[in-house]
Amino acid sequence: MQTSATLLRQHAHSRVWWLLPLVVALLLAGLGWGVQLIYQEREQRYRHQIEGGLQAVNQLQLRGVADWRARRMAEAEALTQDGLFAQAVARWRAAPSSAQEGSVRERLRILAEQVRYTRAYLVDMQGRLLLDADGAATGHLPAPEQQALQQALAQAQPAVVELRRDPAFAFAFYGLLAPLFDGAQPLGAVWLVVDARTTLYPLLETWPNHSHTAESVLVQRLGDAAVALSPLRLRDGEQTPLQLPLGEQRRDPLVQAAEGVRGAFYGSDYRGQEVLAVASAVPDSPWLLVSKVDVADAFTDAQRREWLSLSLFGSFGLLMLGCAAMLWQWLAWRRERALKRELERNLRWLDNAQKAAAVGYFTYDARDETFVMSRMAGTIFGLSGDGSVTLRRWMGLLHPDESVQVLQIHARAMTERIPLRIQYRIRRCGDGQERWVEVWGEYSQESAAEPLRVTGTVQDITERKHTEEQLARYRAALEAQVRLDPLTQVANRLALHEAMAHEWSRAGRDGTALALVMLDVDFFKAYNDRYGHVAGDQCLQRVAQALSAILGRAGDLLARYGGEEFAVLLPGADAPAAMAVALRLQDQVHALALEHRGSSCSDIVTLSMGVASLCPLRQPGLAGQEATQMLFQQADAALYTAKQTGRNRIVLFGADCMTALHAAESAPPTSMELHDI
Ligand code: GH3
Ligand code: MG
Ligand code: MG
Repeated sequence: MQTSATLLRQHAHSRVWWLLPLVVALLLAGLGWGVQLIYQEREQRYRHQIEGGLQAVNQLQLRGVADWRARRMAEAEALTQDGLFAQAVARWRAAPSSAQEGSVRERLRILAEQVRYTRAYLVDMQGRLLLDADGAATGHLPAPEQQALQQALAQAQPAVVELRRDPAFAFAFYGLLAPLFDGAQPLGAVWLVVDARTTLYPLLETWPNHSHTAESVLVQRLGDAAVALSPLRLRDGEQTPLQLPLGEQRRDPLVQAAEGVRGAFYGSDYRGQEVLAVASAVPDSPWLLVSKVDVADAFTDAQRREWLSLSLFGSFGLLMLGCAAMLWQWLAWRRERALKRELERNLRWLDNAQKAAAVGYFTYDARDETFVMSRMAGTIFGLSGDGSVTLRRWMGLLHPDESVQVLQIHARAMTERIPLRIQYRIRRCGDGQERWVEVWGEYSQESAAEPLRVTGTVQDITERKHTEEQLARYRAALEAQVRLDPLTQVANRLALHEAMAHEWSRAGRDGTALALVMLDVDFFKAYNDRYGHVAGDQCLQRVAQALSAILGRAGDLLARYGGEEFAVLLPGADAPAAMAVALRLQDQVHALALEHRGSSCSDIVTLSMGVASLCPLRQPGLAGQEATQMLFQQADAALYTAKQTGRNRIVLFGADCMTALHAAESAPPTSMELHDI
């Protein structure tokens, strides 16, 4: 039982544990592949998002810078076209007075304060500084402004001096020269100076996120160098503007922008950091706006989010996997438990069935000469232990009367490989009780190399055997009963007929004669009438008893033929011998001296007898039934004669020697008569 359950469990386990790693590996591979695809797709998306975001910032700031320049130009143009101001300047130049100077200075002050110019100078056509908002000014325009002045006067429209540094001011500045004309007469110009720190640089500092590495810088290509016009927030402590030669540091975004790269790109900035940059040209200017952010910084959030979602996804996958594995294991465990329970139940049923039927099973290994018996088989043989029994020990349990025969039957079955069906007796081990067992076995041999085995059942049939024996006895008694007359306890007519047939054939074989004596109680009706039926029955019983006492030879049979008639079968008796027996029978009945007042031939119970004897040798060709019939007829005819001739006598049937034995009225018979019939 244990072996089967263990095998079953091992089988279930091995199946589950073989499949589980395969499924897990497949799932993990699928998961990894899916995660990689998702990661790549999401990374691409994030990259686009981040690049797009930086481009948007760059465009916003570009718009701001372009607007800033346009507004400056518009203000300068408005100043050039301001005829009243030009007339005021002309008047002041023609006749300088404090009033005229005041109105000119007022206008310059408005420009400085309201339009947020750092300085506003009135210059003459040669570039000499005449006046500013505070009063008279001295000095000359620096060379670039001088050049711009000439251009402005020549073109009669404002000219720009790009953002630059000059010892004239402590800051980087942007200049405009707005020419003034009194009619067609050039008067000079107004030099508008803008401190880039106040209105331009703040435009580059607006960032929608809180990145620490994001910055925008205005760049201009000056000769073979890219020059940063605006300060770099990450370039700590450096006052001099960054100037990068174009031939070197080609991966620097400022250099790349100066060399014509536009849009989003990657590079390595002045700090050596990997950056994402966007470059665009400010319209109507030599400026370039480069916005950049460290790659590590830009992608940190995205990567963190990505890793978070991936780890969540992965954890979920692993959780699912774990759950699936647990479910699998649980199902396998449940299946195994159900199978085990069923197996145990079946084995229990088998055990109970064995107990109920007293049947055990066994296997016999011819090589080891060992039996392995089930518990029930062991119990039948009275053995204890693990069920292993040697051939020698089993032989010792066989009943001595039958052991040789049992071993022969086993040997024959083994040699001829025929099924074993045998019942034999054993002396049960332990109590030594004699028991009957029935063994059914089959021989098998899987291959020539394998040992011969017998597998079979053994059943204790002792009770069945006892029952069978009782039944046999009962049947024999019943059969005897069928051939016995219940009143007189002598054989009946059926037994007589069977015996006659049997004895006739024996007489035929032995060459002897067979005689039959028919006996009838005389005037028995009258006996009944006089003494009653119970007395009649008792009379018949006593007569039968007396008659049977005479018959001592084997084969002699007294039968009650019917009513008050009896028949005596005498095998081997010829007519004289039969007559002698008949006489003895008559004597015996007379000796009873049973009173019979109703009899007309005697005062005691008497018998009339008819005797016949036949010899098969003298009756060739006479079959058994015909012969017995003839014997009956002859004896009956003789009896009839005895009745007819006075009763209480014996008549022998015979053509030449029919003899009748007459008896005196109350005395024993003294004569024998022969009659022809
Ligand atoms: P016979 O001398 O001519 O034989 O005269 P019988 O009266 O003996 O002959 P019968 O055939 O006229 O009568 C036989 C009688 O035997 C009739 C019946 O009552 C009686 N009888 C037959 N069987 C039994 C029996 O089993 N018990 C008793 N008590 N009487 C029986
Ligand atoms: Mg009669
Ligand atoms: Mg009679």
